Amino acid sequence: MKLLEEKIKKDGMVLNEHVLKVDSFLNHQLDPSLMNEIGKEFAARFNGNGITKIVTIESSGIAPAVMAGLHMMVPVVFARKKKSLTLTDDLLTASVYSFTKNETNEISVSKKYVDANDKVLIIDDFLANGEAALGLVNIVQQTGAEVTGIGIVIEKSFQNGSRKLQDLGLRVESLAQIASLTNGEVTFINEKVEEYIK
Ligand code: 5GP
Repeated sequence: MKLLEEKIKKDGMVLNEHVLKVDSFLNHQLDPSLMNEIGKEFAARFNGNGITKIVTIESSGIAPAVMAGLHMMVPVVFARKKKSLTLTDDLLTASVYSFTKNETNEISVSKKYVDANDKVLIIDDFLANGEAALGLVNIVQQTGAEVTGIGIVIEKSFQNGSRKLQDLGLRVESLAQIASLTNGEVTFINEKVEEYIK
């Protein structure tokens, strides 16, 4: 997605060879118009798949997921990372190790909001080693619902999350695919391909 790639090049900050900071438009401050375009793009890519629900994880997955939900006209459920005092229903849980925070969270979703009749699109902001997405897949599968696809805003293709998910037979749609973050620079997969063709 060209617009997203341009935004990443312009405003993304490469922290090191493994981590990209996008606090100015996705992870802290949010760019609503970009989020809207992201939602539209997910809706276009999964159009005709009969999605009935979007499942994401707090907090940075929520903005792109809500925008996708708006364009697809389906509800959005976000997994919580901390048990809430008000969330007392039957919970489905999974353990997720966070790559950037170096901690494991027990994530949870109420059984009330996903059921066996659902066709679920999982959305997250980043895909690195696939832990968060796999945790969400685990939770959705506990309900008997179908995981119809996984939508990722920024995939770091040099880490193995995408491979792991595809090896499980899951369809992954990533709007930006980063080939490397070396020398303080973002290089997208399509730039690598263009370089190769030249
Ligand atoms: P994974 O679970 O696939 O290893 O990592 C994905 C999760 O970790 C995402 O939910 C995201 O919040 C966080 N994450 C992973 N890599 C990055 C990164 O380079 N930058 C930022 N801002 N978050 C990341």
